[in-house]
Amino acid sequence: MLVARFYAPGDIRLEQAPEPTAGPGQLKIAVVNCSTCGTDVKISRHGHHHIRPPRVIGHEIAGRIVEVGEGVSGWAEGDRVQVIAAIPCGTCVECADGRFTVCSNQESMGYHYDGGFAEYMIIPESVLAVDGVNRVPENIDLAEASVAEPLACVLNGQEIAGVGEGDTVVVMGAGPIGCLHVRLARAKGAAKVYLVDINRGRLDMSANIVQPDATICGEEVDAVETVLELTGGRGADVVITAAASGRAQEDALRMVSRSGRISFFGGLPKDAPIIQLDSNLVHYREISIFGANGSSPEHNRRALELIASGAVPVADLITERMALSDVHKAIETVASGTAIKVTIQP
Ligand SMILES: [Zn+2]
Ligand SMILES: [Zn+2]
Repeated sequence: MLVARFYAPGDIRLEQAPEPTAGPGQLKIAVVNCSTCGTDVKISRHGHHHIRPPRVIGHEIAGRIVEVGEGVSGWAEGDRVQVIAAIPCGTCVECADGRFTVCSNQESMGYHYDGGFAEYMIIPESVLAVDGVNRVPENIDLAEASVAEPLACVLNGQEIAGVGEGDTVVVMGAGPIGCLHVRLARAKGAAKVYLVDINRGRLDMSANIVQPDATICGEEVDAVETVLELTGGRGADVVITAAASGRAQEDALRMVSRSGRISFFGGLPKDAPIIQLDSNLVHYREISIFGANGSSPEHNRRALELIASGAVPVADLITERMALSDVHKAIETVASGTAIKVTIQP
C-alpha cells in the first residue's frame, strides 16, 4: 500500500509499505479521508520532538473498518469511523480529574503511531481504551467527519474561554481554524464575530464562506483601533488568536474589553515564544488569558455531532480534495494559504 512517511525535516517520502493487520485489541481501517493542517506544514519543515522517524503522518482521520482485532467488541467491518488525534493515557492525575487535554503522558496519531496518510491504518488499543473511535452519522461524508478533530480543538478552546450568548468575539487568523472558530462562536450564540488577518486574499476567501460581521485586514488598518471603533471603544468580550503570531497575542490584550477573555489558541514558534505583555492591563482590567491544547475524545464526539446536526457546517470549508500521491502538493497548498481545508483521499 502507498504511505507518506516523515524521515526528516524536508524529507517526506511516498513509498510502498506492507499492509498492516489488526492485532488483538486493534482495528484496521481503510483511510477514506485524512485532512491536512498547519501542523503538517510544521512537521514537514521542522519535524517534531515526539515523532521518531520514519513515521506515517496525518492526524485528521476518517475511514471504514476493514478488520476487527481479537477481543474488540462494538465494531464491525464496514463501520464508518472518525479517530481522535491526541490520545490521553486515562490514568494520570490530570486524566483522573477529567482534564484529558493536559495529560502529561499524551500520545498522538501520526507521532507515536502511524497516522492517516496511508491507504490502511491500525487504530491502536490505546485509542480504543479512551473511546477514541466515533461512529460517523449517515448524513455526513468522511471528508466532513475528518474535520471533527480540528473542530474538537476549537470547541475545547472556546469552552475554556467561555464563549457564549451575546459575546462580541474577535478571531485573529483566517485559516481553517479561524473559520471553525467563527462558525462555532455563531453556534454558541455570539452576537458579533469579527475576523482579522494580515493576508487580504486569505481573509476575503474565508470571509466569503463564513461571513463574519466584519473583516479587518491588519496590513491595511490598525486592527486594535478598528476593533475598538466597532465596539464603541469597549473592546471585544473574547479575543481568540488562531495564528502563530506573538504580535496577534499582544494586540489581543489591547483589543479585549474590561474583564474580557483571551484564548491563546495557536501556539507560537518554539524558537520565539516570548511576547511583550502589559501586565497592568491584565491586573486593572481583570482580563483572563487562557491556553488551549488539542482536544479530548469527548470533544471529538461532540464536534462530530455539531457537524452532523448542521450547527457547525464544514462541507464548504473543504476546498481541495487530493490523492495521497499529491501529499507534497497538499502540504504546500496549506502553507501557501490559498485553500481553506485540504483533504487527502488515500
Ligand atoms: Zn490538524
Ligand atoms: Zn493522562
